[in-house]
Amino acid sequence: MHLNIPGITKCCEDPKHKICDPFGTQMTSCKKNGHKIMIHDNFNVELRSLLSVSGINTTLEEKGVYQTAAPDCNMRPDLICRNMPQSTNGGRVSLPFEADAPDGRISQLVTDTSIVHPLPGPNAVTQLSLENALKPGRAAKLAFSAKISKHGDICHQNGLKFLPIIIETSGKMHPKTSIFYNIVLNTLTSGANLAVASITKFYWASRLSCCLQKSIANALLGKYKTSNGKSVRGLHFSHTHRNNGIENDIVRLSGHSFSFGQVLAAVV
Ligand SMILES: [Zn+2]
Repeated sequence: MHLNIPGITKCCEDPKHKICDPFGTQMTSCKKNGHKIMIHDNFNVELRSLLSVSGINTTLEEKGVYQTAAPDCNMRPDLICRNMPQSTNGGRVSLPFEADAPDGRISQLVTDTSIVHPLPGPNAVTQLSLENALKPGRAAKLAFSAKISKHGDICHQNGLKFLPIIIETSGKMHPKTSIFYNIVLNTLTSGANLAVASITKFYWASRLSCCLQKSIANALLGKYKTSNGKSVRGLHFSHTHRNNGIENDIVRLSGHSFSFGQVLAAVV
């Protein structure tokens, strides 16, 4: 989401977040006040619903996942998918894992989700060159590598398979997340006729996209409402712009008035 939000001068009290750009990049990047984690959590709940209706059993933030090999490890990956199909469409859509369960499935697939902004915030130490800024999926690739570094080895030591679920706030998925998502949809629509399969896939693309857009809009609205034009703990807004149309725009985005074009644009 790249909204022009004039009047916002500070996203929180962190001295490292002094610069707050009018396009909301800093607002979306800032982890303070729990707004960013809400976007992540909301998305995981919707993804879990999709997995559930597709017949894939999951556990959310299970404790002690890695304690077979590392008894002191308290990391809790977001979702563990059990009996996860590893390949669909005759192998044309498949994950890079060896099946270790009946019907070519994966016994336990550990996933951890990141929702990342395509651009670094204006306060980031490292800014992008024009060449890097133009690379599609750059932020998603970076987040994918970071997740592999964090969970890859310990998953392997515990005999588990790991797949990062990475989505940019624009709605663009990392290529492997896209494969995972398509495997789930193909599993859900297996045996359905073309019309039903198409409607079902569109429904879930819309549902996940709306969840992402609403969560981001709510996060921005939350920060805006906290300030209400005053200098308060966590946020500072300029009075000059207090009555501009931002709130109306954000309320519109956080309501139910998405056009299909917006929905599609977010999932492509
Ligand atoms: Zn901040």
